[in-house]
Amino acid sequence: MSHINDTITALATPPGQGAIGIIRVSGPETISIVNELFKGKNLLEVASHTIHLGTIRNDQNEIIDEVLVSIFKGPHSYTKEDVIEISSHGSQYILQKVLSLLVTKGARLAKPGEFTQKAFLNGRFDLAQAEAVADLIASENASMQQTAMKQMRGGFSNEIKTLREQLVHFASMIELELDFAEEDVEFADRQGLIDLINKIQILIQSLIASFEYGNVIKNGVPTVIVGKPNAGKSTLLNALLNEEKAIVSDVAGTTRDFIEDQIYLDGIAFRFIDTAGIRETDDEVEIIGVRRTLEKMKQAGLVIYLFDLVNESIESIEEQLKGLLSSDVPFIIVGNKMDQADTFLQDRLIKENAVFISAKEKNNLEALKERLKSFIDIPTQSNVVVTNARHLQSLQQTDDALNRVIEGINMQMSNDLVAQDIRSALFHLGEITGEVTTDDLLENIFSKFCIGK
Ligand code: GDP
Repeated sequence: MSHINDTITALATPPGQGAIGIIRVSGPETISIVNELFKGKNLLEVASHTIHLGTIRNDQNEIIDEVLVSIFKGPHSYTKEDVIEISSHGSQYILQKVLSLLVTKGARLAKPGEFTQKAFLNGRFDLAQAEAVADLIASENASMQQTAMKQMRGGFSNEIKTLREQLVHFASMIELELDFAEEDVEFADRQGLIDLINKIQILIQSLIASFEYGNVIKNGVPTVIVGKPNAGKSTLLNALLNEEKAIVSDVAGTTRDFIEDQIYLDGIAFRFIDTAGIRETDDEVEIIGVRRTLEKMKQAGLVIYLFDLVNESIESIEEQLKGLLSSDVPFIIVGNKMDQADTFLQDRLIKENAVFISAKEKNNLEALKERLKSFIDIPTQSNVVVTNARHLQSLQQTDDALNRVIEGINMQMSNDLVAQDIRSALFHLGEITGEVTTDDLLENIFSKFCIGK
């Protein structure tokens, strides 16, 4: 009867096809405002967490669209206020029309991130979790999505909360002593206090260290392929990227998301930079010299240094190695053209732990990829990864304040000075989760969200 395969029991819509347009409404007047436009059940009388079919009509009683209305009564909603989601057929015209009707009935257009900001202000989650919502929306790969999801579900916040509790305990011991200052009693054993601070600092420092990994998850590793002209740089680049393109294109509909010049290994993006130069096969090392090539490489997080095992002289290899080994850029030495390699040159590079490939024949590229992956240190101390520069700064300020606390105790400074530094440490930890905020900070964070989130 038709070409439709009978075994298909569920149809899913690909992303971005605009099949559904959802308008979210939140606030104390939500239900009464939507009820004025909605013809169907009386929304003032329905239970929370129910869905209703009906129509949206203008004042002339013309039907704008047939919609589904989902109702979430506060505090059991995203913002903890009354929330309604109107699922329409999603044309821009319909969405604009429904929105303007809502506005005529008293709603106002939401600012970017305002729903999440309300959720934060109403205590649904803390600031770090709210920020994770933005990260989640922006996530482009499995690692970004998983880290953001963990943070949104409170993994990072719990870690900060534990640290805060320990510090509060510490502060209370010091402040207790302050109350009895005249009597010169010592409630807190000094060594015990220092041990506690050290323990807290180890945790904070492991969080700080995880930022490097977090940054890699978020922004990828800028990678550059360097080598003499004709070493095979563009052949290698194309071999790596074409393979990636093939993998990505396998999933229908995702080709447009493919980002030129990057590959994913274990969810980490290796972004090949300066590829225009490579593609023009410019005479990099020849023209600008080994030293300046090395300076240029410093912009990269990782360098793939390619040697031509067929055409290069041992002198040329030695000269380049000398420069490379004395640099502080992380690098992988690769011997290319293994299909025709000179064994003498190969033996020289074995000593440098080189990876041997044939870019043209696509041989041993897997070994190169394994080596690329081995440059990523996955933190083991804590499974929480800091991805946000604002959090990093607060953690560093907390750590600095704790250093001053230890210094104060060691130098037998008065308790009120020590207590002041503890309070400063608590203040900076509180900035992360939003116990301490300013309007500017909130504005800055939430303005980066998209409207409707
Ligand atoms: P680039 O100047 O470093 O970008 O080098 P190209 O990628 O343009 O390669 C220079 C030449 O080396 C081309 O003729 C390639 O076909 C050849 N070439 C690249 N890789 C290999 C390889 O693994 N084996 C062999 N035999 N030739 C290769």
